[in-house]
Amino acid sequence: MNEHDSEVISGMLSQRGYMEMPEAAPQAHAGADRIADAGADGMADPDIMIINTCSIRDNADQRFFGTLGQLKKIKARKPDFVVCVCGCMMQQEHITTRIRRSYPWVDVIFGTHNIHEFPDMLEELYENRAKADNAKAAATQADSYARAKHEIRSSKDTRVDRVYDDADEIVEGLPAKRLYRHKSFVNIMFGCNNFCSYCIVPYTRGREKSRCPEDIISEVRNLVADGVKEVTLLGQNVNSYRGVDREDRQWDFTDLIYALNDIDGLERIRFMTSHPKDLSDRLIEAFAKCEKLCNYIHLPVQAGSSEVLKRMNRRYTREKYLELVRKLREAVPDMALSTDIRVGFPGETEEDFAQTLELAEEVRYDSAFTFLYSPRPGTPAAEYEDQIPEHVKHERFNRLVETMNRISAEKNAAYVGRVCRVLVDGPDKKASGMLNGRTEEFKLVDFEGPEEITGQTVDVEITESNTFSLRGKLL
Ligand code: SAH
Ligand code: SF4
Repeated sequence: MNEHDSEVISGMLSQRGYMEMPEAAPQAHAGADRIADAGADGMADPDIMIINTCSIRDNADQRFFGTLGQLKKIKARKPDFVVCVCGCMMQQEHITTRIRRSYPWVDVIFGTHNIHEFPDMLEELYENRAKADNAKAAATQADSYARAKHEIRSSKDTRVDRVYDDADEIVEGLPAKRLYRHKSFVNIMFGCNNFCSYCIVPYTRGREKSRCPEDIISEVRNLVADGVKEVTLLGQNVNSYRGVDREDRQWDFTDLIYALNDIDGLERIRFMTSHPKDLSDRLIEAFAKCEKLCNYIHLPVQAGSSEVLKRMNRRYTREKYLELVRKLREAVPDMALSTDIRVGFPGETEEDFAQTLELAEEVRYDSAFTFLYSPRPGTPAAEYEDQIPEHVKHERFNRLVETMNRISAEKNAAYVGRVCRVLVDGPDKKASGMLNGRTEEFKLVDFEGPEEITGQTVDVEITESNTFSLRGKLL
């Protein structure tokens, strides 16, 4: 969701004539030093930096404030530099209070509900600066003007700061700048009503709101006309989608899948994330019936013990989850499965954890996002008394990762010798002459081939496998 929000921000700014400098953008792992050094040694030197934040776990919070601290150095060197902060963290009062108090070099603050206002907020900032400059210039001696101008730049006077608790309605028609020409994210709903006891999302993204089905269909048609072959439908809980069309008819998620499956030129449909409690038999059947719906589902289990799931407020049991997996594999024997799975939820016993490992062995996931539980202030679980000590969490986490990786490697090994349809994403960033792409099952495949086939769907024979990817030969 955040990645797509960034695409929208980028799309809106491009429309107003701003230019993106990807080489200056500190990718998530680039580190704060690199940010402070922007402009040095011939590196790209942006005028504006926008930090889109995530609040799911604590380490992102910490990294954000570290990064923000580093930006002060750029401001000192370049007083006109603009620092904008947005995303889920801005929806938390304690975070914005800290920014307002301690980071005076932040110029624009906006939240998840007013992304569409950002370009106007940026213009407002420039107007505020111009006004403040004029006022200062009028009141200040010419010889001290430069110093005064510098002070203005690092003061809070010109800041534009607007964050809303929730959104009244969905804003349609925002442009997005896609990373790939041939594939795109498409938001179908926003927010979440589930209130899993550990999760901050319902507080930062607000209540569930579904887009009108006609708006989604027409967006996908336009994307297809623009060269898109694969769409990934996005939402915190896509299968609780409830759209109302212009004739006042209710659509559920499966209705939407069937309608999108009929769009000529579209080749692949994916979605993320679906909640096990809302995975209907009809949707499972759609995997078999809709040829464009990929044989892959990301179905977060979170934990393998029904007792822990109950305290997480997930509203399914271990047995119910395993039953869903059985049905999915019955409908589509080759169905690939990935999950979100976590250790260290408050009160998790060694026996609970053993059940998580057993479940993973039973399901045999193709891949998994593994997490250490991180208490989020404001969520019920953060207040539970039986928090698990860090060293226990880490020890369990290592065992979990080992198990998940072994299973992934085994699952991938079974692909050797098979021929897969691969949608080519483009040249590999590290190895020259190599391309990569994804199979229908979302497996990453590296192979040799000409750059011109980027965006095409080709046959690749799998020759080697690793834990996280496959290697193949273009046929
Ligand atoms: N809506 C999706 C998940 C969104 S958050 C779903 O319900 O599956 C993505 C993942 O972050 C979650 O699946 C969960 O495993 C993880 N997560 C959420 N809150 C967390 C926390 N407090 N600590 C650690 N991981 C967390
Ligand atoms: Fe968070 Fe649960 Fe909503 Fe997913 S379903 S976003 S884990 S509250």
